[in-house]
Amino acid sequence: MFINGKWLEAQSGQNFKSYNPASGEAIGQVPAGDGVDAIKAIDAAASAFTTWSSLTAYQRANFLYEAHAGMMKDLERLASIMTEEQGKPIKAARNEVKYGADFLLWYAEEAKRVYGQTIPSARADQRFFVLRQPVGVVGAITPWNYPVSMITRKIAPALAAGCTIVLKPAEATPLCAQAVFEVFEKAGFPAGVVNLVTALDPEPIGDAFINDHRVRKLTFTGSTQVGKMLARGAASQLKRVSLELGGHAPFIVCRDADPVHAAKGLALVKFLNAGQACISPNRVFVHTDIMKPFLSELSTRVSNLKAGSGFDAGIRIGPLINDKALEKVDHQVQDALNKGASLVAGGCRLVEGGLDKGFFYAPTILGDVNSGMSIYREETFGPVAPVIPYDNEDDLLPMANDTNYGLASYVYTRDLKTAFKLFEGLDFGIVGINDINPTSAAAPFGGMKESGLGREGASEGLNEYLETKLGGFSI
Ligand code: ADP
Repeated sequence: MFINGKWLEAQSGQNFKSYNPASGEAIGQVPAGDGVDAIKAIDAAASAFTTWSSLTAYQRANFLYEAHAGMMKDLERLASIMTEEQGKPIKAARNEVKYGADFLLWYAEEAKRVYGQTIPSARADQRFFVLRQPVGVVGAITPWNYPVSMITRKIAPALAAGCTIVLKPAEATPLCAQAVFEVFEKAGFPAGVVNLVTALDPEPIGDAFINDHRVRKLTFTGSTQVGKMLARGAASQLKRVSLELGGHAPFIVCRDADPVHAAKGLALVKFLNAGQACISPNRVFVHTDIMKPFLSELSTRVSNLKAGSGFDAGIRIGPLINDKALEKVDHQVQDALNKGASLVAGGCRLVEGGLDKGFFYAPTILGDVNSGMSIYREETFGPVAPVIPYDNEDDLLPMANDTNYGLASYVYTRDLKTAFKLFEGLDFGIVGINDINPTSAAAPFGGMKESGLGREGASEGLNEYLETKLGGFSI
């Protein structure tokens, strides 16, 4: 663990192992921190806050520039730790490290643009000034599916704003978090500004963040269930929260769309990270008139997706994170098949050629999916594309919005009027129109409804770490 500028063991002396999901083998061990370690890290962050928040924005930006350069220099090492620990193909891991580094660079620049405001008063002898100040110590909890970029997406804006931070990474990917903190260590952040507490049991760390008055903000990416629990806890001290939670993205292919282009887009975005992304399409609505060419192109593309170790050439599908994830995916597929879905491709665990040692699921296409199946409601987090035929475009918005989630959505159409109608009518924080990658450090990412609160990236992402202070001056 990295606390107050030093690498430490857990106070209990306990460790836990990290595993390679492609082989099931242990690849390292890290300290199993608990509540005492979390408090120690909060102590460090609280005492570093005074100095860090009083540096100039230019000084803070310089540390972030250093961290960005360090992460880019270390790209190959970080990517290979990620492929080993999380399973994604090495090319995707390199892309993620670059995406993660983007946040450090973008917020190094944005740190210098924390502007205030003056407001005209109705009284001649009064002046209003609005000041933006850092909220204070931040507690951050991150998931395993994007184990590098989810860390910098929180840490970069927090540091730019002048906050200090304690991070608890997911128990499945602590080695990635350690590698990121090695980059921070080299960047030379003052002791206590960034702190890492690894833990096998996340609860005591979350409790420490919730119960310690010095932690003024909680930022979390993970499941809706845990996010709600943390938000309930944070409410007792009215801590600020940012939550980036689950999704159930609709992928809408309109009648006028090019079915081949849309199928290509789906094959790319659905099977990215083996479907383990909160913006992964989970309901694919395709007009019946173009179903045949769409499914034909999709099947061809899916049959070319090779599964295996992310280090092997040509691999596009890595393992799922663990056996629980495999079970959940298979359960949803079997439920759909039992209720009348057709199996277009895949539909089973992959075991041939040594894949049985890891947690591989075949890239799967289900046809004739309907609203009675659990996959229509529950987030899959696996390589399964459930295709739902429709006839009437007037039904699209009610169908697509019929979910408690509201993170990402995708639309394929060649008609500008339809594009605007769906862009404006979809209850989702992100809408990709003929675009499968509507994400960037410069763009606000986040969900509506039960997909979360707040935004990450862009100037919105920085606002999450700032308080607004009004000064009224009588002169
Ligand atoms: P997933 O099911 O995708 O693993 P989780 O929401 O369980 O999603 O995990 C996301 C992050 O939340 C991880 O870092 C995990 O350790 C953490 N987490 C899970 N349960 C708790 C909890 N009770 N308190 C604090 N953090 C938690």
